[in-house]
Amino acid sequence: MNTQSGEIAVDVKSLAKFYGAHQVLFDVSLSVAAGEKIVICGPSGSGKSTLIRCLNKLEDHQAGTIRMLGTELNEDLANINEIRRDVGMVFQHFNLFPHLTVLENCVLAPMLVRRQDRRTAEEQAMLYLERVRIPQKAGSYPGELSGGQQQRVAIARALCMRPEIMLFDEPTSALDPEMISEVLDVMIELAQDGMTMLCVTHEMGFARKVADRVVFMDKGRIVEEAAPSDFFDNPRHERSKLFLSQIL
Ligand code: ADP
Ligand code: MG
Repeated sequence: MNTQSGEIAVDVKSLAKFYGAHQVLFDVSLSVAAGEKIVICGPSGSGKSTLIRCLNKLEDHQAGTIRMLGTELNEDLANINEIRRDVGMVFQHFNLFPHLTVLENCVLAPMLVRRQDRRTAEEQAMLYLERVRIPQKAGSYPGELSGGQQQRVAIARALCMRPEIMLFDEPTSALDPEMISEVLDVMIELAQDGMTMLCVTHEMGFARKVADRVVFMDKGRIVEEAAPSDFFDNPRHERSKLFLSQIL
């Protein structure tokens, strides 16, 4: 699938999500054009991870629609697999396979899902490992790397699938402070290359630098959506103001 700039990459309409009887997303609608960068922020428990996870069906939703790259995420397994191929995800806790080397982590999905031969997959993986500035660790195991290095591998691994959209769920919040910028720098480069990105993060510098829009969530709803400068300098809602006063 190829999205042109300006096309709608992510289209969420009136999404509702329950865990059992407990509703955690209420009437969430969000439209993201190809190439746009969205930062999602909000208090703990506001539904940010749940929303991001719904976008590649790591969670089911109970009402509303999600279209990713024009394909509706429903119960159709072919659709789900197609979307998962084209949507990369980076988690807070890296989620690398600990028993596989960095290179093996990177070639696994391209070989299994994209049916690349090993040589092609390895060549491509090395390009992405260079891009995240860690090619020298190709033969290492995740446990031998720092958190910042592991997260950069996780980004490279996702990129090896040649995704059209990248989802990030607090990619720097498990890192020691001195490692945050090495990961953010890689994400900034990715943004500058035109990737469509949805990032749950509270990194204001990152948001100001790359986000086209900041989406603020509270209690399962999108409360405010604004350009970063408007949101950070001039939040309109009381809940946004309170949240910003707590994190700044
Ligand atoms: P955030 O990422 O903004 O901190 P989450 O999306 O993780 O918020 O959580 C939103 C709400 O859903 C919270 O009330 C949380 O307790 C609940 N929740 C998250 N995951 C589960 C789960 N697997 N089972 C039941 N409740 C969950
Ligand atoms: Mg979360």
